Amino acid sequence: MKLSRRQFLRVGGGTAAGLATAGVVELSRPQGARAMVQQPWKLRDTRQVASICPYCAVGCATIIHAREKTPGQKDWQVVNIEGHPDSPINAGTLCPKGAASIQLAVNARRQTKALYRAAGSDRWEEKPLDWMYDRVAQLIKEARDSTFVRTQRVQTTGQDGRPVEVERKLNHTKAIASLGGATMDNEWNYLHLKLMRSLGVVYLENQARI
Ligand code: SF4
Repeated sequence: MKLSRRQFLRVGGGTAAGLATAGVVELSRPQGARAMVQQPWKLRDTRQVASICPYCAVGCATIIHAREKTPGQKDWQVVNIEGHPDSPINAGTLCPKGAASIQLAVNARRQTKALYRAAGSDRWEEKPLDWMYDRVAQLIKEARDSTFVRTQRVQTTGQDGRPVEVERKLNHTKAIASLGGATMDNEWNYLHLKLMRSLGVVYLENQARI
């Protein structure tokens, strides 16, 4: 028998209603919705803090929810990160990367100790953070001091039109470069550039591209 669309719906609806009356199927209660009601609310007993997604230059605003692992102990554990609805930038939305940013904080593979691998070594060693700071400072100083160029003699044209060699100040090193990130704010960038320029670093870049 060939049925029109309307006839099909009428027959199908009648069949479903008949089965429901006979207690065979339960209508009008979505199974998923019923299951959700039985779950505890994921944000219960949480505290929320406004923040910014650290991943890219768009700078989407987020809300971070955290819950005390032990009530009253202030040992906060991040349990949820979502888009901030009041932000004029993202209006509550996040891209997949930002939506997964909770994995930065809650991740068994997150590195929490400073590791050092000596030149030529095939293994990493744990070192105190202060040791790392000193090591970085020492390497920066060595690289800068060994490559710093104060002046350079260049050929130019004198006032009389003849070629002339003059000495120009450079005060720079080309052995160090600085790459900034999107989440460095204005104040940080200002101080960072002051530091880099005081060292004579000329290769200054930033990942942010708005
Ligand atoms: S949510 Fe996506 S688009 Fe927004 S800042 Fe993060 S990475 Fe960039």
